[in-house]
Amino acid sequence: MKFGLIGHPVGHSLSPALHNVSFKHLGLDYEYVLFDVEKEKLGVFFDNAKKRGMLGVNVTIPNKVEVIKYLDDLSREAELIGAVNTIKFGDKLTGYNTDGIGCAQALAEAGVDIKGKRILILGAGGAARSIIFQCALDGAQISISNRKAEKKMAIDLSKDVTKKLKVECPVVDLNNKSVAKALEGSDVLIHATPVGMHPDTDASIIPADIIPENVAVMDIVYNPIETKLLAEAKKNGCTTINGVGMLVHQGAQSERIWLGVEPPVDKMRAAVENTLKSD
Ligand code: NAP
Repeated sequence: MKFGLIGHPVGHSLSPALHNVSFKHLGLDYEYVLFDVEKEKLGVFFDNAKKRGMLGVNVTIPNKVEVIKYLDDLSREAELIGAVNTIKFGDKLTGYNTDGIGCAQALAEAGVDIKGKRILILGAGGAARSIIFQCALDGAQISISNRKAEKKMAIDLSKDVTKKLKVECPVVDLNNKSVAKALEGSDVLIHATPVGMHPDTDASIIPADIIPENVAVMDIVYNPIETKLLAEAKKNGCTTINGVGMLVHQGAQSERIWLGVEPPVDKMRAAVENTLKSD
């Protein structure tokens, strides 16, 4: 039990499936386990984890921001994003954020090199924030669209990106007309809200017929593997990328940080897909 996930709740996580298959493949006698830790108990958790010689953890909701005060150091990405999903134990505790890198690697795997691309992101929550900073760091031009009632969240995120990275990040209203117009000048659409996630699989954040055929569409929702948005965009002729790739690549990046290994990404993906299909 040298690795694990800390969150609350953590019951339905796919992380043990993808990390344990990797450890087995690499011949490493480690086990990745789930730790249900409320944010008030994080201090106690870290004291015990250090005593037990843990090597690394992933962090999920609601602890991604709260853990920062227990860490000695942050990677550049984690500092920019203001949230941590990976911690390496050692002489000091170092926090990283691999969500955005996972997304960029999933896009690259599908043949989408984000440097110089115009990317529209739907959503301004935690995942969108990680993706936006990574895409901006990688030289993409980003626009953000969040639902109108909460547009302030998108505006704050846009201002934060501009302040920290000196790049413009326009905000688009989340309605079909404004999104359709923004998509005319986009190369990639990334959907980063929970709309369409199991069990509401009949929902889609926008109708796919407003997406031009030349726009690559990524949905970071991974359950179902093919969301309604992706299925319809595919019918329209768009390149589509599901959320499993981001999940697997963020995990693979965590293992590179913890252990300096090259994880078996295809085996990790198969483990996630098999678990999703058997649920
Ligand atoms: P979050 O921090 O709670 O943010 C959710 C975002 O979705 C917010 O911008 C929210 O807008 C928006 N939203 C929620 N319900 C909506 C609705 N009905 N219509 C329009 N917008 C809506 O969540 P998160 O951590 O960013 O996660 C978002 C999704 O990404 C989840 O489904 C999660 O499972 C998935 N995810 C996937 C990966 C992966 O590796 N593939 C990684 C992380 C997350 P408001 O601000 O207006 O509420």
